Amino acid sequence: MKLKIAILAGDGIGPEVTREAVNILNVVAEAGGHEFTFTESLIGGVAITANGTPLPQSTIDTCLDSDAVLLGAVGDNKFNSLTPDKRPEAGLLQIRQELGGFANLRPCLAFEALSENSPLRPEVTKGVDILFVRELLGGLYFGQPREWNKQTGEAFNTMRYSKSEVERVAHIAFQLAQKRRKKLTQVDKANVLECSQLWRATVDEIKTQYPDVTVEHQLVDSMAIHLMNTPRNFDVVLTENLFGDILSDESGVISGSLGMLPSATIGGKVNLYEPVHGSAPDIAGQGKANPLGAILTAAMVLRHSANLEQEAKAVEAAVTKVLAEGHRTSDIARGNTAANVTTQQMGKLVHNALAESIDRQQSLHAV
Ligand code: NAD
Repeated sequence: MKLKIAILAGDGIGPEVTREAVNILNVVAEAGGHEFTFTESLIGGVAITANGTPLPQSTIDTCLDSDAVLLGAVGDNKFNSLTPDKRPEAGLLQIRQELGGFANLRPCLAFEALSENSPLRPEVTKGVDILFVRELLGGLYFGQPREWNKQTGEAFNTMRYSKSEVERVAHIAFQLAQKRRKKLTQVDKANVLECSQLWRATVDEIKTQYPDVTVEHQLVDSMAIHLMNTPRNFDVVLTENLFGDILSDESGVISGSLGMLPSATIGGKVNLYEPVHGSAPDIAGQGKANPLGAILTAAMVLRHSANLEQEAKAVEAAVTKVLAEGHRTSDIARGNTAANVTTQQMGKLVHNALAESIDRQQSLHAV
């Protein structure tokens, strides 16, 4: 298969971790005879330095001409004095808008080898595998009217959704649930909010098209508790924008480090893939960054843009193996397991584990 991937490595640790993610994609391409082409473009602080803008038109054009965009991170303290619309982060907001994705996917995976990194007990986190599907372009963050009237001392925002906005993200969530454990939990505040009542009614209407998927509704306040008490009970979790923002961040405690979390935004013109973490200027250029979030993001590229599910699983299995062997960057070092690898070494370990598992598969097929 052919896949054109735009690489926006960005600032800080972005280039370090993205390099390792690209290496992983190359292993999969070589082993499977796939043609992945990578075009590097500028975003964020590096783009401001080179072009005076955090998102040059050439970057937008490259992204729109690609099948997938893999982004590292943006943000550089040296631009902190600029107004928000000129700072590196403005480039990120703008590229998200240009690509138009409305379904933000945030997997929450518990790696058994990292169980002591979570404040939750190992028996609670063991085996957790949740996929948050968060609506990204609507709700309270974008609804009009909105205002902070400093004269009257009043401020307000508007939570607003149309049925079609709910339908399009719900279909994505149902289809993803069909490929997983076939359970969908829709989160809302339907006991208080009309918007949530629309979400609940729309999901109930759509569910007849997906009879193999079990649907449950949860109020967001009790969901915040269930997520910490019984996270294994959840498969796909569908939410509106604000609730998804909060719950997916809350679920980060299960994986144990920001450096382990991947994400994808799909449904628009081109899918955008990015690790959840930022540019981490405090550790940039020191070989301390954990590349696993970026590598797991590469697995999402394989799953959602290349339709290579087995290969995506193989990348995740390679990460699991390397962690089980005790390799740790400093963010995931705990107790008796000290930090013992650099960014590049961790990438290489996953690379080798993946290459070995692919070799094993291929020799099995050859027999
Ligand atoms: P951050 O995610 O960059 O870092 C928070 C903490 O986590 C830091 O201590 C950092 O060292 C650590 N960390 C993050 N990723 C890590 C990794 N892969 N391995 C090891 N440790 C890791 O968030 P921040 O410090 O609030 O923001 C720094 C800059 O990043 C700011 O300019 C911010 O605007 C930007 N930012 C960008 C994105 C993005 O590009 N998607 C997201 C969040 C923040």
